[in-house]
Amino acid sequence: MHQALYREFRPKKFDEVVGQDHIVSALKNQVKSGNIGHAYLFTGTRGTGKTSCAKIFSKAINCLSPADGSPCGKCEVCKALDDVSNIDILEIDAASNNGVDEVRSLREKIKYPPIHGKYKVYIIDEVHMLTDSAFNALLKTLEEPPAHAVFILATTEVYKLPATILSRCMRFDFKLVSKDDLMSILKRIFDLSKIICDEKSLEAIALAGEGSVRDALSVADCVVAFSGQKITYEATMEILGANDRESVINLCNKIFEKDLGGVLDSINNISLAGKNLVSLGKEITVNIKDLLVIKNCDNSKKILNVTQDIYEKLVESAKTVETGSLIEFMKKFSNIESELKYALSPRTLIELTALECASFDPLKKN
Ligand SMILES: [Zn+2]
Repeated sequence: MHQALYREFRPKKFDEVVGQDHIVSALKNQVKSGNIGHAYLFTGTRGTGKTSCAKIFSKAINCLSPADGSPCGKCEVCKALDDVSNIDILEIDAASNNGVDEVRSLREKIKYPPIHGKYKVYIIDEVHMLTDSAFNALLKTLEEPPAHAVFILATTEVYKLPATILSRCMRFDFKLVSKDDLMSILKRIFDLSKIICDEKSLEAIALAGEGSVRDALSVADCVVAFSGQKITYEATMEILGANDRESVINLCNKIFEKDLGGVLDSINNISLAGKNLVSLGKEITVNIKDLLVIKNCDNSKKILNVTQDIYEKLVESAKTVETGSLIEFMKKFSNIESELKYALSPRTLIELTALECASFDPLKKN
């Protein structure tokens, strides 16, 4: 039975956390120096390693002989803390029940020293979901924490936290994980799972993760479920709906060529393929914007979130159209975005706009 890759390959040591070097080295140094704070705040998009780092750090500060700042995994404390029933490291999910009761019981229990190691650690996930009264209860604990208490608050929405909480925490901002880092994680995990994957598919899956390890791995899960242990580029494209992108590029090319018949034919084909035409409008706008980036930015390859394949097609397409026209087209298509949602026939609206663009004459004002 195939287990979700994200669960199976959660990092157990700091060196397995990818793309957060600044945070990892700061946390390792704290473990090594034994200079541990009472409250930490981990912020950042989902799937960037907040909970993983919180778990590793909780064990590392308790471990009897940490290895380069990470838990050794072998000593009696590490083993005891690996047991899910241990009560020295407690996780609270603030999203599930607003946390009032949990924070209250936390205030009761925090007085008691840890059973196995030196510290009792509370990891509060999605801490921004706590209610005001839960925040107040938490604040009281943060104001006078017992010497053995460590709090790690994790959130995707840091601006929702009260300033009184923020000011008591050491803050770490988790970055989006770069495409290259995502590719290296995927490659390592595929190797360990004996999954064969070519470079092109690897890149496409990494890009689909959009900076999140969790998202990249859940895309990988879908592709593996579809194509088995040997991932093919075709299967990857199928799962990602990337063929759609190519048809959007073709449609735009027809507009640039002023080929009105070709425009109608492309829209017909896209519609026959079962594509949602409301989202087609948005995808055309994105495609035009990507072409503007290519025509005007020197580092366009870095800015655009597309595979090498698609990038090359976009570069070719960009050569056939002027920036002025693209701006005009982008205006027209972004104007119909909200209208599309309520249109009786989104297809007619798209056809009309595309034909208008195809007949656009940059020398005349139309
Ligand atoms: Zn240990």
